[in-house]
Amino acid sequence: MREHALYPLAGKRVWVAGDRGLVGSALVRRLASEDCDILTSPRECIDLRSSVQVDRWVRQARPQAVFLAAAKVGGIYANNMRPGEFIYDNLMIAANVIDAARRHHVEKLMFLGSTCIYPRLAPQPMPESALLTGPLEPTNQWYAVAKIAGLKLCEAYRQQYGCDFISVMPTNLYGPGDNFDLLSSHVVPALVAKAHHAKVDRKETLVVWGSGEPLREFLFVEDAADGLVFLMKHYSSDQTINLGTGSEIRIADLVDVVARVVGFAGTICYDGSKPDGTPRKVTDVSRINALGWRAATPLEEGIRRTYAWYTEHLDLIRERERKRA
Ligand code: GDP
Repeated sequence: MREHALYPLAGKRVWVAGDRGLVGSALVRRLASEDCDILTSPRECIDLRSSVQVDRWVRQARPQAVFLAAAKVGGIYANNMRPGEFIYDNLMIAANVIDAARRHHVEKLMFLGSTCIYPRLAPQPMPESALLTGPLEPTNQWYAVAKIAGLKLCEAYRQQYGCDFISVMPTNLYGPGDNFDLLSSHVVPALVAKAHHAKVDRKETLVVWGSGEPLREFLFVEDAADGLVFLMKHYSSDQTINLGTGSEIRIADLVDVVARVVGFAGTICYDGSKPDGTPRKVTDVSRINALGWRAATPLEEGIRRTYAWYTEHLDLIRERERKRA
């Protein structure tokens, strides 16, 4: 790991936009050991889709560094069902925060993209250069278009105004604080919740969406936060950079890991009426590895820690689901 940072965080006022989300909350935990002043914007007071509210917040809070981790996110079902929200909310959040950061002289900003915005049939593992080289996966094209716009906004502001704004492409994330709601979650939290309920309710079968054949890569969110802080300190370029493990697993094999961790011993059945999404998605992590960073947590350990968090926070999870309904 490198010692001398290009952009040291010590003593800085650092805004984590989206601090209640999966990545944002992990960033707040990780930044606690960076000797910086962490700023968070309360969701009840600031709607990041409002340029007026975002501008006022940035003017008053005067962050020097910004992690733009706020986004409307969801799994394959939610993306497909609520396209308007996924494109509009993400466009507005990106445009408002990035432009306010420019106007109020933020020294460094990190925008989070996602590896699901690479083309559906990108070469695997996906290098950063694959962006915009082919058609998008239709199930998440709305989110992808908005995220690509955010990435390009950072690049354009770098070029025109000299802003030190960078973008990062995290792979599929999971971990403590995840969304376990079955209709809007990603596959890891969905399987954890389904396997838990199947075990507790003594059900015979666990229903998994799709064919079980797609390949996916999963990064534990505490590792992701560590990688993001590392890049904030050590990376400055107009080229986006991947953040992942570089390893992939079949969904059917992931189901086995989750069932083992949760202790579900029944049978697995596959619901072919649900979409598989893109057939294979794994990132080329050679650039971030060359800078000196690697993910540390094995998948089974990460799922174990996620399941522990889930069982400890069942009341909070039920409360969130009630509010969402
Ligand atoms: P994606 O990576 O954008 O496709 O998003 P997801 O994490 O939602 O889905 C990953 C893969 O897991 C897809 O092939 C899904 O069909 C599959 N999958 C299997 N069971 C589930 C489930 O219960 N929920 C979700 N979200 N995906 C599931």
